[in-house]
Amino acid sequence: MNKQKIVILGGGYGGLQTVVKLQKSLSPNEAEIILVNNHPYHYETTWLHEAAAGTLQPERVRYSIEDIIDQRKVQFVQDTVEKIIPEEKKVQLGTRELSYDYLVVALGAEAETFGIKGLKEHAFTISNLDSARKIKEHIEYVFSTYHSDGRNTDEQLSIVVGGAGFTGIEFLGELVNRIPKLCDTYQIKRENVKVYCIEAAPTVLPGFDPELVKYAKSVLEKKGVEFLIGTPIKECTKEGVLVDQGNGETKLIKANTVVWAAGVRGNSVIEKSGFENVRARVAVDSYLRAPGYDDVFIIGDCSAVINKETNRPYPPTAQIAMQQGKLVAKNLKLLLQGKKDLETFVFDNKGTVCSLGEDDAVGIVFGKKITGFKASFMKKVIDNRSLFLIGGTSLVLKKGKLKLF
Ligand code: FAD
Ligand code: NAD
Repeated sequence: MNKQKIVILGGGYGGLQTVVKLQKSLSPNEAEIILVNNHPYHYETTWLHEAAAGTLQPERVRYSIEDIIDQRKVQFVQDTVEKIIPEEKKVQLGTRELSYDYLVVALGAEAETFGIKGLKEHAFTISNLDSARKIKEHIEYVFSTYHSDGRNTDEQLSIVVGGAGFTGIEFLGELVNRIPKLCDTYQIKRENVKVYCIEAAPTVLPGFDPELVKYAKSVLEKKGVEFLIGTPIKECTKEGVLVDQGNGETKLIKANTVVWAAGVRGNSVIEKSGFENVRARVAVDSYLRAPGYDDVFIIGDCSAVINKETNRPYPPTAQIAMQQGKLVAKNLKLLLQGKKDLETFVFDNKGTVCSLGEDDAVGIVFGKKITGFKASFMKKVIDNRSLFLIGGTSLVLKKGKLKLF
């Protein structure tokens, strides 16, 4: 009998979690498992703000996929997914086509620009390892050429971060720790470097606990961040950003570096493949399947799971992506065994911790509020836990934070 073919698209949190659980639970003759990813490595998306600010070397953020997979059971294909054709059970890659019996789509997110003019051309985003590295290199270039390129204007050193969600705030936390070091290296006065955070909503970290929001904002303000709250960015130009002043007029905030961290959408492959979607996210059923396709599971940032308490989708996080990967692996095993009663997905929210640089953070963990060193320690525990869930102790020892020796 032919082996059933399981194809997993994306080697991020959701995809790799599915693969490691499948390779643990299936023997080589139970299924053919293929993992497709556009790079030979996995990167920790949740650490990208550190790579972007340069507080962590980009190489620290990634590890080889072949070190994680059991090559007797899983075939790794490095290629770009162009389109899924669910009616034909096929996936078009950059260089070939794959067929499947079961498909797991875990292709992550892309930056949401809401059609705002100029962002694609003039702003950076913290979307993947390459885009994070570009930000680091750009900032280093700007500082290193400040005295020599003849312009010497303050706008040259000004940095705008668009959006005060978790990504914007975590990036700012790293950035304000890095700037004094850059100033020291390139003999620049700290007061010449302006850092703006521009947020459309009436508060920083909208929806988060107000006491923790106050703490986070005050830590960043003390380190030099100027917040413009209730101020939507309307356009990005090569000179900076145009913001809405609330009176029908716009104002230019000049900046040589604009980092757009104002939201995400699912992967555009979802739209190209014709799945029903909202901003490239598919409202999956309780088994995490795409409507109309019992053989296609969609997880992570490409999926939307409704929180029944709020009637809105859970925010896309690594936490939910990994829990989804675990469940899909379990259900795939049941399907291969010919069982029909699959397990439904229930999100177990363990909390949220938002870092504010190396040694500070704010969070709610198991319902308890934490700040400062305690929260920062917890954040590193969470970072290590996701390494552990995918690569076990050896990966934690190789890549983990909180090194004990
Ligand atoms: P990812 O983990 O992003 O993986 C997607 C994979 O697909 C990548 O390997 C990518 O290379 C690959 N890929 C993409 N397109 C293609 C293609 N066309 N062809 C082939 N391969 C492709 N969440 C938390 O829970 N806690 C946090 O602390 C946290 N911090 C964050 C910090 C930052 C700076 C950011 C940006 C996000 C953070 N998040 C956090 C959110 C979290 O990172 C995402 O929700 C999570 O990465 C989603 O997992 P995923 O498996 O869907 O996608
Ligand atoms: P987000 O959608 O959570 O936040 C984007 C922010 O940008 C919002 O506050 C929004 O009001 C603002 N914004 C939108 N349009 C704007 C405009 N025109 N001008 C100015 N501001 C504008 O997006 P994110 O921060 O990238 O987070 C994406 C996902 O990743 C979320 O689900 C988040 O929970 C998750 N994440 C989690 C962590 C963590 O747990 N520590 C860290 C980073 C990201």
